[in-house]
Amino acid sequence: MLTVHTDTKVHKMWSENVPAARAKSGDTVRFETLDCFGGQLKSEDELLGGLDWNNVNPATGPLFVEGAMPGDVLKVEILNIELGDHGVMVGAPGEGITGNVVCGEVTKILPVKDGIIKFNDKLSFPVSPMIGVIGTAPKGEGIDTGTPDSHGGNMDCTQIGAGTVLYLPVNTEGALLAMGDLHAKMGDGEVEVCGVEIAGVVTVKVTVLKDCKLPTPFLLGKEKAMTIFSAKTADEACVGATLAMHSFLMKELGMGDHEAAMLLSVTGDLRVCQVVDPEKTFRMEIPRTVTEAYGYEFM
Ligand code: CA
Ligand code: CA
Repeated sequence: MLTVHTDTKVHKMWSENVPAARAKSGDTVRFETLDCFGGQLKSEDELLGGLDWNNVNPATGPLFVEGAMPGDVLKVEILNIELGDHGVMVGAPGEGITGNVVCGEVTKILPVKDGIIKFNDKLSFPVSPMIGVIGTAPKGEGIDTGTPDSHGGNMDCTQIGAGTVLYLPVNTEGALLAMGDLHAKMGDGEVEVCGVEIAGVVTVKVTVLKDCKLPTPFLLGKEKAMTIFSAKTADEACVGATLAMHSFLMKELGMGDHEAAMLLSVTGDLRVCQVVDPEKTFRMEIPRTVTEAYGYEFM
């Protein structure tokens, strides 16, 4: 199986990045990923302030997918996420929503064994692996891997895990898929600015879709379909995610404007992905029973 290693990584998603590897539509590819600190924090004595910020948020890739042309959609089936044996968390004044209520910088190493994260002597949690950074090259100027936008990027969406399907826009030939920033677990919002940051290996199947009308990024879970939207403010991201799903319901399911709005008001769950990155990300979730009732088949 084609493997993209961590020695080929980018810190900006950009149409001019040199491809790390090439795949055909329908291929399965493994991406080895570093944690969001680029593996720099190896002990609790190493703090956020000592980081080389040029090496933060590395995304492995980019993968050139043959046949992908601007206007297409790249279907990324997330088949598996393997995690390393420990995660890292950091906290510091000024970081995240809790940045004003913590003193001094702290780094915490969290052992991860047999699918369990040890948080402290009293608390352990099952892992809930997710991909924080995943995207294609955006239109025009490159976008740093710490920022989410319409190309995907640092969306920090807890739902992007194994068994889901992520639809991303193709803005440049080959799509140039890159990913990193795995979390062993994260709460919606990522309020302190990090999840349980961890290295790992992601296995995906990539397929080029022609004439796919889904608003992107779009995520398909086993029971939910989700539009994901990032914007400068949380308010704008809420509106964007909601209207993207409203548009999907009208254009793809043929619902009327009020009917679609009412459906979202009744069954749609507007949820936060993260509010700590340069752009904020929200998602609108609807149950897949809705698309099933209309006989809609996802590509
Ligand atoms: Ca992130
Ligand atoms: Ca992260």
